[in-house]
Amino acid sequence: MTALGEATLAELSQGVRGELITPDSDGYDEARSIWNGAHDRRPALVLRCAGVADVIKGVQFARSENLPLAVRGGGHSIPGFSTTDDGIVLDLSPMKGIRVDPINKRVVAQAGVLWRDMDAETQAFGLALTGGLISSTGIAGFTLGGGIGWLVRRLGLTADNLVAADVVTADGQLLRADADENPDLLWALRGGGGNFGVVTSFEYTLHDVGPMVFSGGVFYPGEYAEQIINGYREACASAPDELTTVLNLTTAPPVPFLPEEVHGKPIVAVLGMWSGALADGDKQTQPVRELAPVIADVFSPMPYLGMQQLIDPLYPRGVHNYFRSNFLDGIGADTVASLLRSYAEIPTPMTEIHVHHLGGAMSRPPAGGSAFHNRDKEFILNVVARTPGAEGFDQAVAWARRATDGVGTGSAYVNFTGEAAGPDQVRSSYPGDTYDRLVSVKDRYDPANVFRLNQNIAPSKA
Ligand SMILES: Cc1cc2nc3c(=O)[nH]c(=O)nc-3n(C[C@H](O)[C@H](O)[C@H](O)COP(=O)(O)OP(=O)(O)OC[C@H]3O[C@@H](n4cnc5c(N)ncnc54)[C@H](O)[C@@H]3O)c2cc1C
Repeated sequence: MTALGEATLAELSQGVRGELITPDSDGYDEARSIWNGAHDRRPALVLRCAGVADVIKGVQFARSENLPLAVRGGGHSIPGFSTTDDGIVLDLSPMKGIRVDPINKRVVAQAGVLWRDMDAETQAFGLALTGGLISSTGIAGFTLGGGIGWLVRRLGLTADNLVAADVVTADGQLLRADADENPDLLWALRGGGGNFGVVTSFEYTLHDVGPMVFSGGVFYPGEYAEQIINGYREACASAPDELTTVLNLTTAPPVPFLPEEVHGKPIVAVLGMWSGALADGDKQTQPVRELAPVIADVFSPMPYLGMQQLIDPLYPRGVHNYFRSNFLDGIGADTVASLLRSYAEIPTPMTEIHVHHLGGAMSRPPAGGSAFHNRDKEFILNVVARTPGAEGFDQAVAWARRATDGVGTGSAYVNFTGEAAGPDQVRSSYPGDTYDRLVSVKDRYDPANVFRLNQNIAPSKA
């Protein structure tokens, strides 16, 4: 284990405003942990950055001490990239500034902001952008990988709404990335992940949303899964862009709105949000609410903020998680058969098979383009394998691999990938010439691959 010398640490501590946490500090175990309990890593140092100056010093320190560098926004990395053994973690969670400009419909937010913070500040002005399904997720990693949420079909990816960013690069410089300055960097930040530097703040466009939306979920018995999947595909084919839904093959949790007799039994849920005119919501969501006999239907008008936090209790911190995804061209007979097979073998009650409906605004790239590639795909399969602790986790991971191998396009979403993907897998997430273009941006801003704890775009001379 790497132990940093007292003199080295003393020198750093004089230069930074934020807290330095080492293995000897109180609170080390809390500081090293992330949301996914599957990763038990022991960094040599966690630097809780109070501002941009701390980020610059942290990057310089990691380079001068030759330490692996992990960058943490909301700490929801499934592969555990935001913690590391024997390296330094730049924890940006104290950086929570948010400034909404309601006149110009813009927001500038620092890298430690979570979706629940962002949603609260923007909704104060009746505004929003595509955010996470779980409100404890950070805006930072989420945006940099793409960002799929309840508004994705109406407003595009979160990354599509990113208009500017402040970035500390590997040489400790603070750069602006926008349409005029370093536009190649802005292009890469829209989906290329944390490969190019530490983003200290994000500027986004905002849109009129809510405060009430027609949303919620409908729950069906699992034995109708085949009929529901086929009906869901048909319903999605004519869904307006204001409607975004997710099909979930899962096990009924013990929640009060589901009758006790189904708790623990296979169910199929369709969750969704209609963000168009509230009066139209009942009618527009109807096609996904009549796919089979209904156990419970909790679609209704509700505050946008309520929907953004509706399923938070089902995703507690600390359990073991492994996600695996594949974009789907459609849901043909082979895919239906494979979904049903995986559903029949689902390893734990916490495990879920999600099919997100994409398309709509997401199929249209933003002005200036983006590194996010799979815009023509109508659906994405994301399997969420979970166990309460280490017991049974390896089997759940093996199941998740079986459930996705050979299904769909073979191109994954980097934010729904539960392990460090190999070079070929990363390349397949950025098909066509996108990967080569990402490498050229990497060569320009991080030629020594200082930022490598991510779905890594290796520089050409690594
Ligand atoms: C419970 C849960 C729900 C989720 N729901 C969704 C969803 O609805 N839609 C969706 O698209 N994805 C979703 N995801 C996936 C999510 O987008 C990724 O896990 C994302 O990386 C989380 O961002 P974070 O800032 O919380 O993570 P962190 O662990 O803090 O960061 C992840 C990685 O992003 C990079 N990074 C983070 N901050 C910075 C920065 N400031 N500068 C440069 N690089 C940085 C680093 O490589 C870091 O390792 C979910 C994940 C979880 C765990």
